[in-house]
Amino acid sequence: MTSLAAARPPESEQPLSVVRSVDDLRAQVSAWHRDGKTVALVPTMGALHDGHLALVRRARELADRVVASVFVNPTQFAPHEDFDRYPRDEAGDSGKLASAGCHLLYAPTVRAMYPEGFATAISVGGPAEGLCGTFRPQMFGGVALVVTKLFLQAQPDVAVFGEKDYQQLMVIRRFARDLDIPVRVEGLPTVREADGLAMSSRNAYLSADERARAPELNRALRDAATALAGGAEATAVLEAVRARITAAGFGSIDYVELRDADTLEPVTRVERPARLLAAAWMGKARLIDNVPVLPA
Ligand code: AMP
Repeated sequence: MTSLAAARPPESEQPLSVVRSVDDLRAQVSAWHRDGKTVALVPTMGALHDGHLALVRRARELADRVVASVFVNPTQFAPHEDFDRYPRDEAGDSGKLASAGCHLLYAPTVRAMYPEGFATAISVGGPAEGLCGTFRPQMFGGVALVVTKLFLQAQPDVAVFGEKDYQQLMVIRRFARDLDIPVRVEGLPTVREADGLAMSSRNAYLSADERARAPELNRALRDAATALAGGAEATAVLEAVRARITAAGFGSIDYVELRDADTLEPVTRVERPARLLAAAWMGKARLIDNVPVLPA
């Protein structure tokens, strides 16, 4: 005899529900809230890897229901950047999200997010200044716009972001606070490959040879963090990181900088928690990474 319950696949193997409109998203989230459930949001651009899935698992710990969004956001890419070739795999993403325990996938179209006549922008300062803000000047305005929309659309109690994009996390914390958006913003440490390379959808752009060289970025940052924590002079340490990653085959280096861990203001001495952040090109991939630097 097969009971209905026994015939149902376990929760993790059930196909994930997908919504594509704000109305459908809100209907589901409101129903959960009416039932007294808390809701977490995990915004992503898809091509999901274990770093994204760690955010989903953290979100499950923080809330009763988890919504993941997959949306490659055109407003955060400059015309010469990789919007068109950014990897997309909704079927694969959906399966991974289901097995990580996600409850709902929100995958809006570009038209639904930015309808004809869309004319609004958000200007961000503070932690958005310098670092990636200098080399990708449109990025954080685009991130602020889409994440604000996602917050207003989903109305989550908590949202989870990765420290892999540390400056982005600080920018999101700041505008959520500045705009009084009632959401708790949680950060999760970077999930790495066994050799230390930060997991990233853009690692797919690396050739086998570039992939083998890429972990040197993290190794150089970790050694530099140890030296800085031990009181070494910042300018020389940062210069040593640049030389080391250049020797490893990185091409153009956008930045290697030491910043305050909370405000992201430049610092030269580690007297309170700091962050060492870098962005550099390996072939066609712009890789970013960052590590904490704690005072001795
Ligand atoms: P993305 O899809 O690259 O826009 O990233 C979506 C979210 O996943 C952001 O909050 C990222 O910081 C986070 N994320 C991406 N890679 C990692 C990683 N290796 N470890 C932790 N979080 C990550």
